[in-house]
This record gives sequence, C-alpha cells and structure tokens, in this order.
Amino acid sequence: MTAYRYLIIGGGMTADAAVRGIRELDADGAIGVIGAEPDPPYNRPPLTKALWKGDPLESIWRKTGDAGIDLHLGRRVTALDLPGKKVIDDHGDDHSFEKLLLATGARPRLLPFGGDAVIYYRTLEDYRRVRAVAAKAGPIVVIGGGFIGSEIAAALAMNGCTVTMLFPEDGIGARIFPADLAGYLVKYYRDKGVDVRAGEQVADIQASAGRMTVSTKNGFTVKADAVIAGVGVEPNTDLARTAGLAVEDGIIVDEHLTASLHDVFAAGDVARFMSPALGKRLRVEHEDNALTMGNAAGRAMAGDDAPYTHLPFFYSDLFDLGYEAVGETDPRLEVVADWKTQFREGVVYYLAAGRVRGVLLWGIFGKVDAARQLISDAGPFDARTLKGRLGG
Ligand code: NAP
Repeated sequence: MTAYRYLIIGGGMTADAAVRGIRELDADGAIGVIGAEPDPPYNRPPLTKALWKGDPLESIWRKTGDAGIDLHLGRRVTALDLPGKKVIDDHGDDHSFEKLLLATGARPRLLPFGGDAVIYYRTLEDYRRVRAVAAKAGPIVVIGGGFIGSEIAAALAMNGCTVTMLFPEDGIGARIFPADLAGYLVKYYRDKGVDVRAGEQVADIQASAGRMTVSTKNGFTVKADAVIAGVGVEPNTDLARTAGLAVEDGIIVDEHLTASLHDVFAAGDVARFMSPALGKRLRVEHEDNALTMGNAAGRAMAGDDAPYTHLPFFYSDLFDLGYEAVGETDPRLEVVADWKTQFREGVVYYLAAGRVRGVLLWGIFGKVDAARQLISDAGPFDARTLKGRLGG
C-alpha cells in the first residue's frame, strides 16, 4: 500500500492543475496521480488545433512529474473504499489517501455500429491514429458537427485530406450558434473543400479490409480510410456512484469542490458545480474549466477555503475563424447579434428575461472578462442597449 496525503484519480489537465494548486500551498505533501492513459498529462486542445498547424508534439506535455509526485499511468482505479480512505487499481495495488480528488473526466459516447474501427477522438492515442491516416491524405469521414467534428474536419482539410462531414443538425455548431451563423459555417466549410452533409443520421458503419463504409438513413453512402466520431461525451461517474457519492449527470460538488463526503473532491468534466453567476448548476467540458477548477480543487485539498465562483469560458478555431465565449450560449434563448462584419467579426448575446446569460465573441478576443461582467449585470438589456457594447 502506498500512502498519499493527496491522491488524484484521473491523469488529464484537471489533475495536472490540481497538482499545481496543491503545491501552491503545500510544498512537500505526498501526491499520487493514477491515470488510465499511458501518456502523462498533456494539453488536449492542440490535438484538434495547434498540432495540425505545425506545433511539435513535445509542446503539449504539462510536465506534471516535475512537481515531485508519483504518476501511476496506464492504470484504472477499480474500487473506492471511502470509509477506509483507500483505492484499489487494476494492477491490484492499494493506495491510501488523506484527501482524494476525482478528476475522472468524460468518455466518448459510442455509436451502435462500427466497433473499434471508429475513432472516437479524444486522446493523444487517437491523435496518433488519425495522423497515420492523414499522412495518406484520407479520405476520412467525420461524424458530428460539434466541437470535435468541426475542429478535426478543419484540421484535416488544412492538411490536405479529403473530408466528408456528417451530422444530424442543419448547421455546424448548431447547439451553440444561432441558425444563420451555423448555416454560414456549412457554406464556409464547403468553400474550403469539406463535403458537408448536414441533416444526415448515420445508419451503419462497416469495416472491411482496412476500408470503411458509412451509410446514412437518407441513403447516402461514402467510403473512407478512417471514420472519426465526435458525438458527445458522458462523465465518468461510475466509481463515484458505486462509492455512494451524490451523482446527477456529474459528481455533485459544493462551493469548495467537495463531493458529498468530507475529504473527497471532484473537478473538471466530471464535476457538477453551482455557478453563482448563472444561478444554476453546471457541468462544463472545456479547457478553462479543467484548469481553473482543477487548480481550485488542489488548493481546497491543501486547506484553502476560498469558494469556487469562476464562470469558465471556451474557445475554438475553425480554419481561419475563431471565437471566445462564456456563459449559456444556447441558441434557444433570445439571441441578439451585433455584427461589425457579418459572420466575421461581432458579438452574439444570449438573453433571458432581459439579462445576458451568455456571450459569443466571434473574431473578437480579450473581452471575456467584460462579457462576464455583463452576465453579472442585472440589466435589463435588449438589442438597442447592447449595440456596440463589446466591440460588435
Ligand atoms: P459535442 O460538441 O457535444 O457535439 C456532438 C455532436 O455530435 C453534435 O453535433 C451532435 O448532434 C452530434 N451527434 C450526436 N449523436 C449523433 C449521431 N448518432 N450521429 C451523428 N452525430 C451525432 O461533442 P464532441 O464534439 O464529441 O466533443 C466532445 C467533448 O470535447 C465536448 O465536451 C467538448 O466540449 C469537448 N471539446 C471542446 C473543445 C473546445 O472547447 N474548443 C474542442 C474539442 C472538444 P446533436 O446536437 O443533434 O445531438
């Protein structure tokens, strides 16, 4: 049995940020990190962005090991004994803890066909697999029009691959963008050479002799060297649920990121936390959330009692378009668009009852804090009072 003052389950960006948070307050308490992936913690965003624009692979490492910790990689925790304050991994080893952080992240949702031949793009291992196919220029089918689908389709097309994109909605990023912007992106991707098939639901995927065939419910069929899917993720809550912690689409945490048992914390994709800015519980699957909440959880484990109040932002690059966004970017809310140049530079506000709930800064950077401020302002706001406010 290895004994740790701090034990972290999960080896991603949240875990790395938590290690740093602990070390800000405790220079030498023993820290153990148990991660299922064989690679040490790395930055995930470059897997769909910077690594396809020429950044070297070495640039992604977070160098967590430099903090003087034990990294147990390629291992899964199989049981949590919370009263006994220990965990058991799939190598049969026990690890005891004084404080435990669950940073178990999320796993891709799977399609009911295609099996292992479909690449559910999430890890560095998935990047390596896709790189090998991309070196031969495809053709590649990308399923899903969300974050993964839109980013990897653009990255592959920019690297000379023949890409077909299939998704059920009418537009790219339709869950966050207003319909006209999501529709504009379809045209934009097509102009960049991507064969975008909106409104298509996959009906079957067959793999034979290294070739893939994808068929849709509308009768469209396409052959490819690889099929990549980004059809959403599910939080890894099984361990927490089995151990009796409160789980509701994520591990429920309080303002100190404590789960429903003393000395047990959760952060990152897997944690459902209260957002004071939005007055509701959120579970967020983006980088800023992983880093900021991970750091706060590490500090909380080491005794900091500051409440976690951060409203995380997210961002993306789509060919040469880019944005930052914060809050509830739900196009089913009242949407006010303030374009300086339509679909190139402007601000989209998402409102409910006269209050700004979310802000999309399209082609505008460095205004996230001002957007957060607007979300905290009681208003009331409308198209007239928002005009020109954040640079539209
Ligand atoms: P996502 O953004 O939720 O998008 C899922 C997409 O798959 C949606 O277009 C969805 O359509 C579609 N879909 C669902 N079921 C489908 C099916 N059976 N066939 C075809 N399409 C289907 O999830 P993701 O793209 O998989 O990304 C995974 C996670 O990584 C997310 O949590 C995301 O936040 C994170 N991520 C973030 C960034 C960033 O912050 N820039 C970048 C990459 C990844 P419907 O809407 O109709 O269900």
